[in-house]
Amino acid sequence: MATKKLAKELGLLRQHNGKKKQEMDTQHSRSEKEKGQFFDYLIVIDFESTCWEDKGKAHLCQEIIEFPAVFLNLVTGDIIEQFHTYIQPREHPKLSDFCQKLTGISQDQVDEGIPLPTCLGLFKQWLKNLVQKYHLVFHSNYTSSTNGCHCTFGTWTSWDLGVCLHSECKRKQLNKPAVLNSWIDLKITYRKFYSRTPNGLRGAIEDLGLCFEGREHSGIVDSMNTAKLAFKMAQDGCYLNITHSDTLKHPVTD
Ligand code: AMP
Ligand code: MG
Ligand code: MG
Repeated sequence: MATKKLAKELGLLRQHNGKKKQEMDTQHSRSEKEKGQFFDYLIVIDFESTCWEDKGKAHLCQEIIEFPAVFLNLVTGDIIEQFHTYIQPREHPKLSDFCQKLTGISQDQVDEGIPLPTCLGLFKQWLKNLVQKYHLVFHSNYTSSTNGCHCTFGTWTSWDLGVCLHSECKRKQLNKPAVLNSWIDLKITYRKFYSRTPNGLRGAIEDLGLCFEGREHSGIVDSMNTAKLAFKMAQDGCYLNITHSDTLKHPVTD
């Protein structure tokens, strides 16, 4: 699978040995909790959407065309599972040249993709399987203490879940999975922890002495690099907390 090959090249994917590996993950989770990091796992998402050179147009009608999610073990830094689909845009089925150049996504890839409602159904099923396999508990805030491995979503900026998916679901009257109402905005977290504003995701990664690997603005590549960044931040002692939650109504500021 192309994405697995890419993850291996990025050094993020290890051979997964069924139950044995799961037991190891749980052990790691316990030791991480002792050190104080609340979340054991992070699901990193980075959507690509339709876009045009004229940014005014984008504001009204962007549609997701690539939906990737990578499941990161925050203790080992391994990406152990992933979800990845291309999506057919319905409002503007023809991708602009600008969009194809920016994202590297071709017209054929989206034509052969799936509709967003189907994608959301498959994504929910993927999450359900993860919950069972890794005994996950999702959180809308970081103070809940429930038995199980703690998991939430991570994104570079809040655009993906707070703007892009939110407004497309609202516009098309689709049910946005409730679990996607809380997330860690890694850019906010980064700025606060390192006390500087990075120049985009690539800049943030390079400022920490890491390399951005692969093609920027490919959703799956951006997700993997964001996961690598999140792991580095955790290793540097940055405590990863939920920054946005519908339940909390306001961004968590501390
Ligand atoms: P990114 O995750 O940075 O690749 O961006 C996500 C989406 O934002 C892209 O798929 C585009 O729809 C839009 N976008 C990003 N950069 C630009 C840009 N320079 N001009 C117009 N749209 C952009
Ligand atoms: Mg992005
Ligand atoms: Mg991207």
